[in-house]
Amino acid sequence: MSAHPGHTGGKRLFSSPVFCSPLNDKLMKTSTQLTLRSGDSIPAVGLGMWKVSPGQSADLILAAAGAGYRHFDCACDYGNEQEVGSGFKRLFTSEGYSREEFWITSKLWNTFHRPEHVEIACRKSLDDLQLDFLDLYLIHFPIAQRFVPIEQRYPPGWIFDPAAPAPKMEFDRVPIIDTWRAMERLQQQGLTRNIGVCNFGTSLLRDLLASATIPPAVLQVESHPYLTQEKLLKFCQQEQIVYTAFSPFGSLSYHELGMASPGDNLLEVPPIPAIAAAHRKTPAQVLLRWGIQRGTSVIPKTSNQTRLRENLDVFSFELTDQEMQSISALNQSHRYNDPGHFCQTAFNTFCPIYE
Ligand code: NAP
Repeated sequence: MSAHPGHTGGKRLFSSPVFCSPLNDKLMKTSTQLTLRSGDSIPAVGLGMWKVSPGQSADLILAAAGAGYRHFDCACDYGNEQEVGSGFKRLFTSEGYSREEFWITSKLWNTFHRPEHVEIACRKSLDDLQLDFLDLYLIHFPIAQRFVPIEQRYPPGWIFDPAAPAPKMEFDRVPIIDTWRAMERLQQQGLTRNIGVCNFGTSLLRDLLASATIPPAVLQVESHPYLTQEKLLKFCQQEQIVYTAFSPFGSLSYHELGMASPGDNLLEVPPIPAIAAAHRKTPAQVLLRWGIQRGTSVIPKTSNQTRLRENLDVFSFELTDQEMQSISALNQSHRYNDPGHFCQTAFNTFCPIYE
């Protein structure tokens, strides 16, 4: 597995950031890219790959590239990296795209937090994705679980032993900084150009920043008008950490998992439909535009070819300050993706991380 030829180790980290500053507000409103502290640019809209079925994944990657996507959000835990990798292979061989045109993210699963397992997990994702390097490798959750060897079960998922009489999660005690040091080594080796974290709050970020040699480049968290996380966003902007919003449509992703109430659809909540009508855009486009205009990147998932194009077409209009404020005023600090809740319900295990 060769390192990325353009990788220059720690030097890239200290070039000055372009975004993540309130001073660049106007620029943030119009740019299709966000610049990381490394100097790399991440496309503001990416395609989320969670819950894309393996059978659909390769074709979806090709359709998305054809529609203009240059950013893909993948993870070991999504159970489709091999099929996504087949899509990438077709992109870079028969379709003639170059690897350098794309931003590809993957994530370290909870069972690989021990330092000796981090590189094994990253190389497995690279092999499955048929890549020589990632653009971004993220710690998926601040939750260390007991190691499950790749040859035993992959992806390992949340439950330690699905065949046990009462299956549940089993934890390990691994300090985040130990995992992070191993993540830093991946970047230094050129296996990934940037490293970051998901599902961290300000306390964990502060602690990580205090000890990290390479600060996290990106924080990926749930973010939509019902969960605006304004203090977290401001903290990231202050610390030059790009903030990526997952589940930008709020409840939509969680209906099929039984984790959202049927009537709880942000696309239909006032004032979203009226703002959409005023701009001749769809409610989904308004939600994505709101995310981009507040300086975050967004990674909507869709398996539908029409919606692929719709979700990328968010740079031809601008929300007014009043519209931005009225959407932000929907905030209820409501989290759909909360391990403190779903681990109890789905995995018979108490696993809070936010309180
Ligand atoms: P999402 O993108 O907010 O919502 C996806 C849902 O919205 C799907 O049901 C999709 O259905 C529907 N949809 C997509 N575009 C639409 C449109 N224009 N109009 C109406 N409905 C639309 O939710 P998500 O998948 O939870 O989050 C996005 C990505 O973030 C994930 O795929 C994953 O890559 C990442 N993520 C990361 C974490 C983490 O812990 N780091 C957690 C969750 C998610 P169709 O497919 O039928 O269009």
